[in-house]
Amino acid sequence: MVGDIAPLIELRGIRRRYGGEGGAPEVEVLRGIDLSIDAGEFVAIVGSSGSGKSTLMNLLGCLDRPSAGSYHFAGRDVAGLDADQLAWLRREAFGFVFQGYHLIATESARENVEVPALYAGMPAHLRRERADALLARLGLGERLDHRPGQLSGGQQQRVSIARALMNGGRIILADEPTGALDSSSGQEVMALLRELAAAGHTVILITHDREVAAQAQRVIEIRDGSIIGDSGAPFDARKSNPAALPAPRFEDMSEHAGGWSAAGEVLRSAWRVMLLNRFRTALTLLGIVIGVASVIVMLAIGLGTKQRVMAQMASMGATTLYLYAAQPPEGGPWGELSLGDMEAIERLPEVDLLTPVIGNPLMVQYGNAAREIYVYSSNEQLPGIHHWPLASGRFFTAGEDRELAPVVVLGHKARQFFFRDEANPLGKQLLIGDAPFEVIGVMAEKGKESGADYYDEMVFIPYDAGRARVYQDILEPEYATFTARTTAQVQAAEDAVTELLLARHGREDFQVDNAAAKVQAEAETQDSMTRMLGLIAAVSLLVGGIGVMNVMLMTVRERTREIGVRMATGARQRDILRQFLGEAVLVTIVGGSAGVLIGLVTGTGLLLAGVPLIFSLSAMLLAFACAVGTGLLFGYLPAKTAAALDPVAALASE
Ligand code: ADP
Ligand code: MG
Repeated sequence: MVGDIAPLIELRGIRRRYGGEGGAPEVEVLRGIDLSIDAGEFVAIVGSSGSGKSTLMNLLGCLDRPSAGSYHFAGRDVAGLDADQLAWLRREAFGFVFQGYHLIATESARENVEVPALYAGMPAHLRRERADALLARLGLGERLDHRPGQLSGGQQQRVSIARALMNGGRIILADEPTGALDSSSGQEVMALLRELAAAGHTVILITHDREVAAQAQRVIEIRDGSIIGDSGAPFDARKSNPAALPAPRFEDMSEHAGGWSAAGEVLRSAWRVMLLNRFRTALTLLGIVIGVASVIVMLAIGLGTKQRVMAQMASMGATTLYLYAAQPPEGGPWGELSLGDMEAIERLPEVDLLTPVIGNPLMVQYGNAAREIYVYSSNEQLPGIHHWPLASGRFFTAGEDRELAPVVVLGHKARQFFFRDEANPLGKQLLIGDAPFEVIGVMAEKGKESGADYYDEMVFIPYDAGRARVYQDILEPEYATFTARTTAQVQAAEDAVTELLLARHGREDFQVDNAAAKVQAEAETQDSMTRMLGLIAAVSLLVGGIGVMNVMLMTVRERTREIGVRMATGARQRDILRQFLGEAVLVTIVGGSAGVLIGLVTGTGLLLAGVPLIFSLSAMLLAFACAVGTGLLFGYLPAKTAAALDPVAALASE
């Protein structure tokens, strides 16, 4: 087996050059490194500052690629691995310990230690158990929930060692691990590394301090990018260290998608980041909030208006027209409508139904209940004209009208007022003025949404009977209501009636009112208002989206080193992408929810103020989806930026 014969790490002629392109002079930092390290060795790489130690460590840990030379890991050429495979190798083989600890400031000690296991797809409860056990073993059992800022330097370094061990840490790469520590903490850390080496971990310690280096089994000296001394090469550790942990097997390389546990983790840490920046986040979200709220209100108003228009259309009919007497524009006496006019209009081919109307408030009485109400006298066509069914009984007939029959049909509210206690008002006598009328029917309720609920308060009597019994003083119809034969003929009917009456009266002493057109016009006004609100919503969402992008770009900048740490511990590019996209989406989910809430409150306020409006669940879902979509759209660029960061550069950033 190749893995058994080949050294764990084998570098041949490794060179690393910086610069060269873009004006910067080219510098060669590593100048042909040949180096073999076996499993279980405890190696110190020592050299003065600037000699290329960190550069070498980044190459060893697969955070960086060499400019020339080959790197075989357990016999496999690392140059052939893609970014995801390198992430796997970092995750499974290496554990990094840095001089500056590089802990994630917003997460607790335990959560910091859990990070590598997150990317390895370990289930949450195992992750937690293992992190706790490692921290306890390193003497931090009491500090599990402390943030890095609440720990001393030595404690932070122990947390980072626990993190390096989380996925096994077969190879510990420690770059100046004691550099920032006082001597006693430094000694503790060194003791820990010795222990780990004895337990079979391969430890590669980088230091500028010869005394520290002397604690390793093998000391390699580096100067100006070349190895100038090696105390123990070649060293067969497997003979002296039977506990040596083997290299991870490339055959076991698998795709850890992370699944739901990872998604939950993304949201949890995103939530924390959002809370830490709550003021900034809240300001950013204003656009989203306003956008979502206005989408909801806008659609509710649109829907309410549409509903009302439709109800009005249904109740008045989309073909209804009115004819009034009027004063001519050129002055002179008011016009009068005659029954002769009515008959002539009814004969027009464009006109379908017609009724003359006389209506006035009169005293109406039944028993002790008396009230002044509108008494509407029309012919038998009224229910047809208004598409208005009866709730009980029947409407009067043309015959009854001709015979001056004293019969009355009640509106819904009139029935309730006069016959509250009666199961059946039919056959009862209602006194209108001084004349008794027999109740023969009750109209169906028009209701508030019809926009014509005033009809519910009225009573209806035949036109001729009304003329004969209560409206003796009124000789001619006050106005007429008629319908066009089809909706397409409404305008033609209006024109025909106008022409006819001009011919009959010789002057324009009347007015034709097109109710359908009015309703249409009102609907159009509302429509344009809805469109304006829609524009506001769109602009707000856009502004909100740009805000989200801005805040996310800021976050990525602020947390560049965290991204480097996550990559060093085995995060793939798509893990980073997912994390920042998750943050953007979470932020917009919160903004979207606030928007829905404010939309509901505003809408309820408008509703109470009498604006017809209907909330719809689908509108809310749509608005919400828009917000989240905005987050995805505008969060993508920053997340992509984060994912594309070079791990070495990210780690080096401050
Ligand atoms: P050490 O860790 O031994 O102190 P480094 O490996 O960090 O040394 O750096 C070695 C040399 O490489 C230094 O002279 C440094 O300036 C240079 N160097 C490191 N990183 C870069 C980089 N990204 N671009 C240019 N020069 C670099
Ligand atoms: Mg260094």
